[in-house]
Amino acid sequence: MAGVGKPLQGQNVLVTGASRGIGAAVVRQLAREGAVPIIQYGRDQAAAEQLLEEVGAGVTLQADLSDPMGATRLWEQARSKAGRIHALVNNAGIRTEVSIEAGLQAWQSTWQKEFRVNLFAPADLCREAILHFSEHGGGKIVNLASRAGQRGYAAEAMAYGATKAALNNLTKSIARNFGDKGIFAVAIAPGWVFTDMAKGYIARFGKQAAVADIPIGEMALPEEIAEVIAFVLRSSQHSLNGATLDMNGGSYIR
Ligand code: NAD
Repeated sequence: MAGVGKPLQGQNVLVTGASRGIGAAVVRQLAREGAVPIIQYGRDQAAAEQLLEEVGAGVTLQADLSDPMGATRLWEQARSKAGRIHALVNNAGIRTEVSIEAGLQAWQSTWQKEFRVNLFAPADLCREAILHFSEHGGGKIVNLASRAGQRGYAAEAMAYGATKAALNNLTKSIARNFGDKGIFAVAIAPGWVFTDMAKGYIARFGKQAAVADIPIGEMALPEEIAEVIAFVLRSSQHSLNGATLDMNGGSYIR
C-alpha cells in the first residue's frame, strides 16, 4: 500500500542511463515518491554511486547497451538484486550526427549504433519486462521517445528521429497487446530538454537555434520530465496506457 505523499512506495523501478540528465532526475523523483530505483549507468560509476548515496536506497548496475547482450544481462542482474521489478524506464539514448555526404561506412555504423542503443536495447528490456510482469501481476513501461520521432528531424540526425519513431510504435504495440496482463506502456516525447545532450547542440549552434520554434522559448528541464514519469507510474493510473505524452512547449501540437 502506497503511503501518504509516497505514491510509489513498494515499487522497484529500473531506470536506464540514470547517472545524469533526465535519468538522474527520474531517479530523484521516484525516490522522493517512495520507489526504490535500480540505477543503470554506462561509464560513470562515480556519478551513479553518488546518486545512490543521495537518494538513500536502491542499487547501481553497469551495462553497455550498445552490446547486443547488454540489455538482457542488465535485466538478469536487476532481477537478481531486486527480485520483483514493478516498472522499467527506458531512458538511455544517444543522438549521433552523420550527414548524407559522409562515407557509407560512417553512415552505416552511425545508423547501426543508434538503433542498437535507442531501439534494440529498449526492445530487449521491454521483452524481459513483459515476460516478468506477465508472471507477477503486471507492471509499467515508460519509453523516452522524442518530438524528433513525431515530426521528422534534422538532416544530420535522421537516424535519431527514426529510432524514436520506432520506439514510439513499440510502446503502442505493447499497450495494445498486453493490457489484459496488467501491463501498461507510455511514451514520453520531449522537445529539447536541458541536459548534456542539448548542451552539445547549444555549444555548436547556440541556444536560439534550439528554441526558435518553441512557443514558450525555453527547453524543458529534466525535473519536469521526471515529474510526469513518476505520475505515470502511480498505481492509481489505469487508463493512461499507449499514450505519447508530448512535452515540447507547444512546438508540436497534434
Ligand atoms: P544524456 O546524454 O544526458 O544521458 C543519456 C544517458 O544514456 C547517459 O546516462 C548515458 O550514459 C546513457 N547511455 C548512452 N549510451 C549508453 C550505452 N551504450 N550504454 C549504457 N548507457 C548509455 O541524455 P538525456 O538528455 O538525459 O536523454 C535521456 C533520454 O531522453 C534519451 O533517450 C534521449 O534521446 C531522450 N530525449 C532527450 C532530449 C533532450 O533534448 N535532451 C529530447 C528528447 C528526448
